[in-house]
Amino acid sequence: MKVVKGLEFSYQSTAQTRELVSNFRDMVNDAIRICLEENVKGRLRLRDRIYKELQLRYTVGSRFPYSVAEIAWSIVKKHKLWHRRPYAKKLMLKMDSRNYSLDYSILSLPFRKGERIFIPLQYGEYQRSFLIDKTLKRGSITMTETAIIITFWRDTPATEPLRKVGYDLNEKSIVDGDGTIQDLSKVARLHTLYGIRRSGFYERHPRDTRLKKKFASSTREKERVSQFLHRVSTLIVEKARANNEAIVLERLKGIRFAHQKGNGERKSTRRRIALWPFRQLQSYVEYKAGWAGVPVEYVSPAYTSKTCNVCGFINRNLKLTDRSWLCPSCGAKLDRDLNAAINIERRGKIRCLGEVRPGARGKDEAVKRNDTR
Ligand SMILES: [Zn+2]
Repeated sequence: MKVVKGLEFSYQSTAQTRELVSNFRDMVNDAIRICLEENVKGRLRLRDRIYKELQLRYTVGSRFPYSVAEIAWSIVKKHKLWHRRPYAKKLMLKMDSRNYSLDYSILSLPFRKGERIFIPLQYGEYQRSFLIDKTLKRGSITMTETAIIITFWRDTPATEPLRKVGYDLNEKSIVDGDGTIQDLSKVARLHTLYGIRRSGFYERHPRDTRLKKKFASSTREKERVSQFLHRVSTLIVEKARANNEAIVLERLKGIRFAHQKGNGERKSTRRRIALWPFRQLQSYVEYKAGWAGVPVEYVSPAYTSKTCNVCGFINRNLKLTDRSWLCPSCGAKLDRDLNAAINIERRGKIRCLGEVRPGARGKDEAVKRNDTR
């Protein structure tokens, strides 16, 4: 299984780097023009068509036409339905792995004919771990005016996990079938904090639309929430990798469904939950798991919290405020979220080497009773 990751590095831009990205952008736009005017069909035909012409016009080496054609063709294809002529607006450059080299943190790129340009990448601890990892292969790079994104990839053998673990995700916490709890209340606190700041600001400056816009987008709030979700997702994936587990998550409809209008919750509560970035957390988990070779599966969320994990009884009267599961049928008693996590896990269909866990874990009497049955 090939896993790919794009990693961003910043760099100090110079007259040369600016020339490089602006030339590349101009070449892409020339190629788009030629492609449309001469009705060239296909990326490779386009490359052959522009090969000589661009080298002469831009005095660049022979390294560029392939990537120029690739990007120009993708823009033409994407914008077939536009009324005006498509063009590449941003300064950028793309280069495949054969045409650049990376010596630790010094990137070397073809520049003018017969010349190369050397760009020192700026990196932190995290990026450094990729630079020194000999097991990683390098794919294409994308360069903008301020950053260089390098794709790293490796082949991960598709191994069968030992077991699967379900995760019940709600606004306040994420609980797995082993009973591990991660507190997520910080997200709601951040939303409240920035919400209050914004509303106070509007009261003081009701007519300042420029600043209003700035605060409404609240980049800082999003950054802090993302940072937090990154930490949470890293812990989840690290645990799964260390124990060779698959991750089972709920398809998200359930959370929205549970908080629909008319379920007795206040409007402010429904609003707060609508803002909660459930999908963002899931996609971080999915992404990191993919890189770590940990399988992720999504299952139906129907009745995961209302079903008894011991006897299968469905308690339709369970309220959102009921924090523990007390089964009206078999008397099983355990934490509500843990019950849901175990149900989610059982719905997973990923094949595992180990056997299904025997009943549930935990110190609840009902569970023990189930084990001895
Ligand atoms: Zn039961």
